[in-house]
Amino acid sequence: MISIAHSFTGAALGAVVAHPLPAVLLGLASHAALDEVPHRDYSKPLHAVVDALASLALLMGAAAWLRRHGLDSRLPGFWCGAVAGVLPDLEVAIGYFLHQKQRFPTHNGLLPHPQVRTSLGIWTQVVTVALDALIFVYL
Ligand SMILES: [Zn+2]
Repeated sequence: MISIAHSFTGAALGAVVAHPLPAVLLGLASHAALDEVPHRDYSKPLHAVVDALASLALLMGAAAWLRRHGLDSRLPGFWCGAVAGVLPDLEVAIGYFLHQKQRFPTHNGLLPHPQVRTSLGIWTQVVTVALDALIFVYL
């Protein structure tokens, strides 16, 4: 999946547990789980930049929402989960430019990483982000 789905899912799970260590573990686990969901990735660097900026904007908005609702204590888990959720794709970005071997199980072929070229591949990510938003509403 793209960064916005990975980072927002990691942030949501991290906000639920509210502590950095379990947030990191959940973020990494959610990355593997989401890569297993049929989805559509992009291959152009410009799309990655737009995705990263949109991810940051969404995360900043969600963090502000947590603060506004007195949930500041969940922010360490939120940010650790967000970073861990998207961190495995750093090797994809590095690999794009340096052509290095990838090690994360859904990137090196150990686990499936199903791509769907139809709109379904986008909708699975939209639904993921919407479900993440529901987690914040019910915190
Ligand atoms: Zn990935």
